[in-house]
Amino acid sequence: MRGIRGIAVLALLLGAPAAHADPCSLTIESNDLMQFSARELAVPPDCTTVEVTLRNVGKLPARVMGHDWVLAKEGDLPAIVNAGLAAGLAHGYVAANDPRVVAATRLVGGGESATVQFSTAALVPGGRYAFFCSSPGHSSVMRGRFVFGGSGRLAQASK
Ligand code: ZN
Repeated sequence: MRGIRGIAVLALLLGAPAAHADPCSLTIESNDLMQFSARELAVPPDCTTVEVTLRNVGKLPARVMGHDWVLAKEGDLPAIVNAGLAAGLAHGYVAANDPRVVAATRLVGGGESATVQFSTAALVPGGRYAFFCSSPGHSSVMRGRFVFGGSGRLAQASK
């Protein structure tokens, strides 16, 4: 059921005209069903700064169904998740000053949103980056690919 709904949401996104004039500024949504609205985000290589806004369109509070948006190298994801679990809710499930974290929003509950801006100086074009939610248990489903220097469009719905 979860998968079918996810595809429907993604299809809506793919069918919509480009919502942002600025390709370096992205918005992604999350909900009470533990879903992100996209499985892949891409920014063109000429973005020196990227801005990502996470909107939680759910209704549940952050301590129950809070979400954040964390960007890192794909291979660093498990270690960041474990360190975030140890850090706990008080730290939004992201360890303070974790050098592996490229960018992270705060944890937001239903109806809230958060924006993070980060430099792309540390990113390698074509590198394997992942975004995910660090809430306990969420990253197994709330994750996607972040493409820096890719085609600049939302990608394949298949998965
Ligand atoms: Zn989450």
